[in-house]
Amino acid sequence: MDSEAKAKPRRRKMAAATSGVGRCLSKGGASRRPPPARVRVAVRLRPFMDEATKANEPPCVRGIDSCSLEVANWRKYQETLKYQFDAFYGEKSTQQDIYVGSVQPILRHLLEGQNASVLAYGPTGAGKTHTMLGSPEQPGVIPRALMDLLQLTREESTEGRPWDLSVTMSYLEIYQEKVLDLLDPASGDLAIREDCRGNILIPGLTQKPITSFSEFEQHFLPASRNRVVGATRLNQRSSRSHAVLLVKVDQRERLAPFRQREGKLYLIDLAGSEDNRRTGNQGIRLKESGAINTSLFVLGKVVDALSQGLPRIPYRDSKLTRLLQDSLGGSAHSIIIANIAPERRFYLDTVSALNFTARSKEVINRPFTNESLQPHALAPVKLSQKELLGPSEAKKAKGPEEESTGSPESVAAPASASQKLSVLQKLSNMDPAMLENLLSLDRLLGSQGSQGAPLLNTPKRERMVLIKTVEEKDLEIERLKMKQKELEAKVLAQEALDPKEKENTRLQPLSSGPGTVAKPLKKAVVMPLQLIQNQTDSKIHILKRGHKRKQESSDLSEPMEKTEDCWELQISPELLAHGRKKILDLLNEGSARDLRSLQRIGQKKAQLIMGWRELHGPFSKVEDLEQVEGISGKQVESFLKANLLSLAADQPSGPS
Ligand code: ADP
Ligand code: MG
Repeated sequence: MDSEAKAKPRRRKMAAATSGVGRCLSKGGASRRPPPARVRVAVRLRPFMDEATKANEPPCVRGIDSCSLEVANWRKYQETLKYQFDAFYGEKSTQQDIYVGSVQPILRHLLEGQNASVLAYGPTGAGKTHTMLGSPEQPGVIPRALMDLLQLTREESTEGRPWDLSVTMSYLEIYQEKVLDLLDPASGDLAIREDCRGNILIPGLTQKPITSFSEFEQHFLPASRNRVVGATRLNQRSSRSHAVLLVKVDQRERLAPFRQREGKLYLIDLAGSEDNRRTGNQGIRLKESGAINTSLFVLGKVVDALSQGLPRIPYRDSKLTRLLQDSLGGSAHSIIIANIAPERRFYLDTVSALNFTARSKEVINRPFTNESLQPHALAPVKLSQKELLGPSEAKKAKGPEEESTGSPESVAAPASASQKLSVLQKLSNMDPAMLENLLSLDRLLGSQGSQGAPLLNTPKRERMVLIKTVEEKDLEIERLKMKQKELEAKVLAQEALDPKEKENTRLQPLSSGPGTVAKPLKKAVVMPLQLIQNQTDSKIHILKRGHKRKQESSDLSEPMEKTEDCWELQISPELLAHGRKKILDLLNEGSARDLRSLQRIGQKKAQLIMGWRELHGPFSKVEDLEQVEGISGKQVESFLKANLLSLAADQPSGPS
């Protein structure tokens, strides 16, 4: 960052050089299932930095066409390596070429509620900061992207447009595996966390609202001075840290159903990827380089794991990759710009940078629209960090996010009668889980006689109570599902006990007429007969059909009508222990696929479990699952409920 001193002229020049570019952008419609996006890779070759070298040595990199290049080993010219990327920008390329060709096209995704990231990679001195930041005369990706985004959000936000947009910025650096807030340098090392939707966030990180480019510069330029920079032999202003500018675009729908979207843009100037041995680093510098290289090394491992489709992606092994979890292989449209230099002395670093980026090309991102109803679907109010993280995390969190949480009433526009919740049923564009919640809320209110009360005006506390009720209803549904499962198992076992019924079950197809009419639960055939026999043989001492009250009260005079038919399921502790053991074995030894075969475990949880296992060794008991970040105690409980019974019943087929 060389030019903070010239802030003013730079601002004017940046503005001049970037104005008008925003018109090329347009807000695309949000598609429900965007196609997977590959990490795009562009390579930029900078020119020789001094005429003498240029005159004395031929460049070791040569462009072939707009996508390909070759790197020549001057000692062995036959060892020429050829590479192909999404784009190759030669030494004469301008800042505008790179921006328009490779960065601008991904920005529109931000307005669709998707994430995007631009990473400058390469050895120190190869042009990363020039590409990302540039100079007043040649502004780079950062000023251009900000200029465009701010212009675009202003246009999209004008009165009468459906969405209200706002932009905030955060600026941080990762230095020796510490996350430092450049907008509030006193804040110390910050933790990186993941919210319930898999978004990465940094509680306590300063977020400044920006509405104009000059406002952006007011925050950005002084913050840049807070960056840790050191001098190495390679480059006087070599950055020894990863600088991450985070720009968030928040969108709130002005009318019902008041959807809310958030798109994040990471603009990252990575620290140099050079080899320690060549930079002459010693002492603290060596330590810095070690840390830098650890982060970049893990970045390489992450890229490898993603491109090979490995089940465990080691995001958590470094701060940099943890932060990039939702930008690389996650939900972002990513572009890596590999900066390389033509001089011979860069040869090895050039080859290693190109090899790294060649692997990144294989990474498939699956962008999704980060859209929700405005919390909690009922009025336009921003989720505070507290709400997002839960009480314990929120305690640790601090900073302006909390300040920005306005009271819903101050933001919410009064809703018209036509904006009642029931209109949501017509929305095809909505997350089904969210829709389901809303509808059950709607039904609930109906059943409580609120008859179309103006929900959207409901004060916040009442809304929270309603949401809580919905959550409880969800739990109730879960319980009912479990109960149903138990009943099915009981029916099966009953059939196993009664050979005649078993015969029926075996011989008659589901639709075989009157013979099966009286047994509506024939779908219980999902469990193989052999299994039923095993169960009856031993472990589940099952299933007496009886009259509960009668048994409990032993009041024989009570009329039969009042007694309640019930099934009793008694599973032997032995069998439960068997179920737990099976779950534990799967947790400790199962592949991602095995883990996904468990109820309540999807792709993400399977990866979390495998990641934890790798870091901490085997689980000693199933409850240890709670220790996995991202899996709550409640989830563990429901996971156990969902799996214990089926795994307990899943006996080895040998004699018991
Ligand atoms: P890095 O951030 O990778 O360490 P810099 O961006 O600081 O490298 O670039 C090193 C030097 O090279 C700087 O003086 C910069 O202005 C110059 N430079 C880099 N790329 C170009 C380019 N494409 N055109 C002109 N000068 C460049
Ligand atoms: Mg730099």
